[in-house]
Amino acid sequence: MLPATEVEEELELDTLPGVGPATKAKLKDAGIETILDLATSGPMDIAEAVDIDVSKAVELNNKARKKLVELNRLEPDFINAADLLAKRKAIDRISTGSKNLDELLGGGIETWAMTEFFGEFGSGKSQICHTLCVMAQQPREEGGLDASSVYVDTEGTFRPERIQEIAEARGMDAEKALSRITVARAYNSAHQELIVKDLGHIIEPNKVKLVILDSAVAHYRAEFLGRGTLAERQQRLNRFMHQLLRTAEIYNIAVVVTNQVQAAPDSFFGDPTRPVGGHVVAHTSTYRLYLRKAAKNRIARMVDSPYHPERDTVFILNDRGVDDPSEEPTRKK
Ligand code: ATP
Ligand code: MG
Repeated sequence: MLPATEVEEELELDTLPGVGPATKAKLKDAGIETILDLATSGPMDIAEAVDIDVSKAVELNNKARKKLVELNRLEPDFINAADLLAKRKAIDRISTGSKNLDELLGGGIETWAMTEFFGEFGSGKSQICHTLCVMAQQPREEGGLDASSVYVDTEGTFRPERIQEIAEARGMDAEKALSRITVARAYNSAHQELIVKDLGHIIEPNKVKLVILDSAVAHYRAEFLGRGTLAERQQRLNRFMHQLLRTAEIYNIAVVVTNQVQAAPDSFFGDPTRPVGGHVVAHTSTYRLYLRKAAKNRIARMVDSPYHPERDTVFILNDRGVDDPSEEPTRKK
């Protein structure tokens, strides 16, 4: 492993052509401290930070991306398909805790991608997020990546006690499991955006391979009410989702977002994405899974994926978090 200072040196902002001390200082003031930060920031954010035109900010962002390509940390714009296939071998997977659900996902949730779980209240979105934070810590043989996670909690529903329970039920050290999860409580959409901008500083030093956003859209839904604010909401949400996706790609981490939608009671697949700028989230997500309740079980379906089977799969929620129906302990709760 390289000593920390050496890594930082090659990522220093002023190694980029055209970035002088003044620009560097302004970027740093805005929390953009390294070339990685600059590459993950949206042009609008860069423009605001340095007080320049958006076109100039796009240029700056492109320079950062180019530098990362040179450093072999990012894909070039044009890449041979065979090289791309080889590069995609770097994609890792984290088990959800359920074999059925993993199978539906082609082996678990992917790094270098954003996976969206959407469904009505109680459909298991937050339970999946809690379980994933535990599963990510497992060794590879057990479906994990021996990695830490970040849980951005926008609704105040993260429960350390639940992590403890899941870890213990899976034969893991609960204290250790808790210590490898960083929780960020986001109080409003602006705060949530700030947290995501800062993610880079947590990801690199902490061996983070999973970032959860539970929920990605709740604050936007609450803050932007009425027709007049719809355009602004969509724009803000779009900017935010793209920043998340860039973060997933640049750090090769798995990003998981949740999105609450109301079930369409008449036709099951009526339009479950109707509420909350669902389309912005839908278009940015790499994979989308629709969850629904069916008595004690939960049913998941992969939506809009070109290469995943379009079928339902069943999972359950128990002391192990997410699990398979056959493995449910036969004791009464
Ligand atoms: P919302 O949209 O309201 O955030 P959600 O999709 O995030 O909903 P979850 O919180 O993931 O919903 O799921 C809640 C459900 O998880 C509960 O209704 C319960 O059935 C189940 N659950 C929670 N804890 C346990 C547990 N320890 N054992 C079994 N089931 C549990
Ligand atoms: Mg929830």
